Amino acid sequence: MLNKSARKSFQKIISSKEPVVVISHVNPDGDAIGSGIALALYLKKLDIPVQVIIPNEVPEFLKWLPGYELVKSGTQDFEACVKLMDDAATVIMVDFNEPGRISRLEEALERASAFKILIDHHEDPDDFVDLMISEPWRGSAGEMIFKLMEELGYDHLLDKDIATNLYVAIMTDTGNFRYASSYSEIFTVAGKLVEAGINKDQIFTNVYDSYSADRMKLMGYCMSEKLVLIQDCNAAYISLTLEEMDRFNHQVGDTEGFVNIPFSIKGIKLTALFIEKKNHIKISLRSKGDFSVDEMARKHFSGGGHINAAGGESRESLEQTIENFVGVIKENKDALS
Ligand code: 5GP
Ligand code: MN
Repeated sequence: MLNKSARKSFQKIISSKEPVVVISHVNPDGDAIGSGIALALYLKKLDIPVQVIIPNEVPEFLKWLPGYELVKSGTQDFEACVKLMDDAATVIMVDFNEPGRISRLEEALERASAFKILIDHHEDPDDFVDLMISEPWRGSAGEMIFKLMEELGYDHLLDKDIATNLYVAIMTDTGNFRYASSYSEIFTVAGKLVEAGINKDQIFTNVYDSYSADRMKLMGYCMSEKLVLIQDCNAAYISLTLEEMDRFNHQVGDTEGFVNIPFSIKGIKLTALFIEKKNHIKISLRSKGDFSVDEMARKHFSGGGHINAAGGESRESLEQTIENFVGVIKENKDALS
């Protein structure tokens, strides 16, 4: 994972004890927050002043994570986030591959004189940092944080709190070890986290069994009223308007996982979720097998991600966005059958 110069950079960060900012992407998921907090907790144990920045809101189901007090949200405290970036000696970015993913904080990142490091597992990261650690074959950025500290010789610093964050990162990005996890090392890492004392079942409950009844009803509504199958293409999608989400008292994070719902239908190879926001449509794409939704998101929806899980956005109306999507699916009918 680390070549000689990368190792040197980290050794310098650790010996100088100058302030570090860890930043992850907008609409954070368990990997964004878990990998960010875990890294910050390791650095804290090495007596390095450190904060984690998340560009917007953190969903409620991730706020219980140990070390969450290190997180500053760009929505709640934008000026403080900018100042942290201005004052940092090092900015370490985790779990994203292009600067646009930190939204309004992109300008502060560009201006910052800090040494910039990216630790990420998405395909083809942009060249916007001083040191890039990119391992797209790994299921999560959290696993990369574990490997990083192991390679640097600090694996003895792993404790229950750090391990809990890392487990959340790995568990959420692999859908509880359903995808992006068919290699043995991920289970070796998970085993080390169990050895560190995590309560695996409690973590599962905190993340997956902590939604509101309204969210469950919204999910039911998606299944019964909003699921659309694209004939002969093995594809399906769900869309939600602002009005529909209001009706079900939508909270940040409520639509997490909805994109996977159509996969329960036999034969489905590609799914999409369209969420109407105030100024754009947020798009989530998932696939099974070798059809790359990363490519599809890059080409058609100003986004990207991984081969089987990607996202993007559209500035057109919801109807037009869906029409474009259905057109793209029909063009790819052969690849999906
Ligand atoms: P989700 O659909 O859960 O938001 O995202 C799926 C995957 O695609 C995640 O790894 C996420 O980081 C990535 N992703 C989501 N939206 C975007 C986007 O707009 N641009 C890029 N480059 N990646 C995205
Ligand atoms: Mn990730």
